[in-house]
Amino acid sequence: MSRQSPLIYSLLLIAILINITEQKRHLKIGGLFDKNKEETEHAFRLAIDLINAKHTSETIHLQSVVQSVDSRNILAVSSATCSLFGLEIVGLFGPNSSPGGASKHIQALCDNKEMPLIEIHWDPNDGRNNVINLHPHPEIIEDVLIEILQAYEWKKFTIVYDDNESLAKINKLLVYKHNEYSFGLEELDKNEENYRQIMYKIKKQGDTHFVLICSVETLEKFFKQAQQVGLLVENYHYFIYNFDIQTIDMETYQYAGSNITSIRFFDPNSPKVFEFEQELKDYSNYRFPTRKMISFETALLYDAVNLFHQALNDSRSSNKLNPKPLYCDSDYTWEEGSSIINIIKMKEIDGLTGPVRLDSKGFRTNFDVQLIELNEINWITVGYYNYLEKKLRITRKQENKDQQSDENSLRNKSFTIITVLTPPYGQLKDTTTQLYGNDRFEGFGIDLIHELSLMLGFNYTFTLQKDRANGNYDRKRRKWTGMVGAVLSGEADLAIGDLTITSEREEAVDFTLPFMTLGIGILYRKPKPVPPSLFMFTSPFSGEVWLLLGVSYLCVSFSLFVLGRLSPAEWINPYPCTEDPDHLTNQFSLKNSLWFAIGSLMQQGTEIAPIGISTRMLAGVWWFFTLIMVSSYTANLAAFLTVETLVTPFKNIEELATQKEIKYGAKANGATVNFFRDSKRDIHKSVYSYMMNNQDLMTNDNEDGVWKVENENYAFLMESTSIEYVMEKNCSLTQVGQRLDDKGYGIAMKKEAKYRQLLNSAILKLKENGKITSLKIKWWKEKNSGDCDSVVSKGAVTALTLQNVGGVFLVLGVGTFMGLLMVFVEITFKSYKRSKKEETKFKQEMREEIEFFLKFKKSVKPIKFSNNSVESNAETVDNMDNFYNESR
Ligand code: GLU
Repeated sequence: MSRQSPLIYSLLLIAILINITEQKRHLKIGGLFDKNKEETEHAFRLAIDLINAKHTSETIHLQSVVQSVDSRNILAVSSATCSLFGLEIVGLFGPNSSPGGASKHIQALCDNKEMPLIEIHWDPNDGRNNVINLHPHPEIIEDVLIEILQAYEWKKFTIVYDDNESLAKINKLLVYKHNEYSFGLEELDKNEENYRQIMYKIKKQGDTHFVLICSVETLEKFFKQAQQVGLLVENYHYFIYNFDIQTIDMETYQYAGSNITSIRFFDPNSPKVFEFEQELKDYSNYRFPTRKMISFETALLYDAVNLFHQALNDSRSSNKLNPKPLYCDSDYTWEEGSSIINIIKMKEIDGLTGPVRLDSKGFRTNFDVQLIELNEINWITVGYYNYLEKKLRITRKQENKDQQSDENSLRNKSFTIITVLTPPYGQLKDTTTQLYGNDRFEGFGIDLIHELSLMLGFNYTFTLQKDRANGNYDRKRRKWTGMVGAVLSGEADLAIGDLTITSEREEAVDFTLPFMTLGIGILYRKPKPVPPSLFMFTSPFSGEVWLLLGVSYLCVSFSLFVLGRLSPAEWINPYPCTEDPDHLTNQFSLKNSLWFAIGSLMQQGTEIAPIGISTRMLAGVWWFFTLIMVSSYTANLAAFLTVETLVTPFKNIEELATQKEIKYGAKANGATVNFFRDSKRDIHKSVYSYMMNNQDLMTNDNEDGVWKVENENYAFLMESTSIEYVMEKNCSLTQVGQRLDDKGYGIAMKKEAKYRQLLNSAILKLKENGKITSLKIKWWKEKNSGDCDSVVSKGAVTALTLQNVGGVFLVLGVGTFMGLLMVFVEITFKSYKRSKKEETKFKQEMREEIEFFLKFKKSVKPIKFSNNSVESNAETVDNMDNFYNESR
């Protein structure tokens, strides 16, 4: 053992080193970019480097392999795609423009090979199997445009465009809405430097409203010349349809007096983008050429790579990912590609371009579009289009109007505001002194109303919804209950709390913009470590490996026995002093072969040494086998004994719904249960019918649900912000799985309430200046007593208990006992044989053996000679042979 130890340890070390280096998976991702768009290609490489550098501790390390092609040449695109396939990539990014056929062609190739394709360009096509596109879908953008035209009451305008693809971007307006608007079309040639003639014509016609759908380069030329021609003065209105407007220097046009409006998907001045630019600068000393700020495409590309990287890291099978070279002329596909796409579709990240979430078709969902106007300082946000609400809400313009008109001001107005006692949105102050009026309450909602009152100047009185019901439509009584009912009956002007904005409620009352966004999650106990078992020492190998090990041991022992008998070298002279022995002996009896093999398997060795080449070869191979097996066993055993494996009984709503042991429920008559009622998905329907059939599992409020989770085998369907709050307080609880939907909390008021816009813009301001975030931190973290961060993290090395190694003791005990039993069998057998041979009594033989055994002082045993001398001689030889063989 001791001679083998250094070797075993060095092999173990090598195995561990190999393991460490292997833990970092180097996965290649392909990029296919247009030759003329070097900036995007550069951004792609940098995004990968930056993400690798930021996530050094994660297992996936991405490598870029890039091809630049002329995207109009379909043949070149096709061969570049095929050559990337051959490089064992796990995903393909690009193309970075929408070169019509080329994009479709790449999509078809990727579909064919099941290769994930991640796009970031404007693409009006419907989703394909293996394609995801981070660019907001053109249909949504067209809806936004039409909403803007309506909000600004534009009926007559001129559309200025610089290529045919630009016109495709407003297809809805041109084809379906042309009856509602009167518009003319003006084309600007991208390659032309002088647009002044066209501008004079426009000016003569008296056009004052323009929708500009042009590239950044054309826009730069256009504005410069429009100023010279006198088209950038008061009364002129421009709407720019280009998401890279931040990259144009508009400083000289800020004072021109024209109204210039546009939309954007991300704020280039946000701290997040600033931080990204900083990181990029620190990492690579790279500055975006000639542009002041990063382009939309770069931001999308970074988000795309980040999403892909996080999805690969999340995927539990990422270590098993087996990228292989694919050839366009073979039928081979890469099945794992589709599952990567599915994981990406389930993933959500907070990217530079806002929350990145995809629908089942692989398109962006749940994002905000900002309506921006150029004022004398910069671009400012004046409204939002919310993907979920499908509505444009103008904030700044309305606010100005409202501020001017005293009649709409909230100054000195008094509101009765109803709330529920659902911590931390609203709760009673924990004090021994008697409090009255508003003083009795505290919480996030109470603070939010206070902030709004400071901004808008209104007074308020809080009342309480005693039954803690937020509001549900009672179909039998045809009446709204809870806070919504109170607002409708006039009992309260406003309702605040964890009041979810739902389409059903929106039909009865109006809501402000959401002040908090959330989704349904599952609250459950944190996964528990698997309890140690007595036979944990068997865990390093699976059952079949143990079985095969046993079979191999028997086979090798038997082979040794056979080889030993066949090999002439193994037949040796038992009496070396005799030159011509009358017989030869062989050490590889079946018993000895079994002993030899088990000796090496246990790393102990025996005195038996093979002599023949064949037996030595077999013994060598067996030793090698045992060396690897024992090293693997030792390494794996160490991991099994020290690392705790965690078990979660379910990972998502599907698994929760299909099991029987864990009960689940939600708050009765709340938005959560109504989500399951209205959902079209079968699994949600079955969850709803389960809840309806088990009314005892439904709770009156969140606190009841949390209590059940803590004390029963129960999972509570709860809104994610409330789950976050509970998790801060109770470290043993957690959210299982992803959110099931996206929604928000709003303040409810009667329909057509005049103060809605004022509240909306005040809420937006509170969001923008970070007040809402700090209120959330105050009520979720600072005022929450739990301190889960300080809970000792898992994975610390702990001493092994008897539960971990008890099985080994058990095996030792059983083995010793079996040995004792065997010795009695041996004695019995020997006495029996002897009694037969010597024709004596078996009992007597047995007695003699036992009597000798009991004389503990005697350590020499006399040989009993046989009555028959011939037999006696033969037996002596036999005995000596046996003695000789057995002692080896
Ligand atoms: N926020 C929900 C509502 O407004 C109550 C909580 C829930 O249903 O989970 O009805």
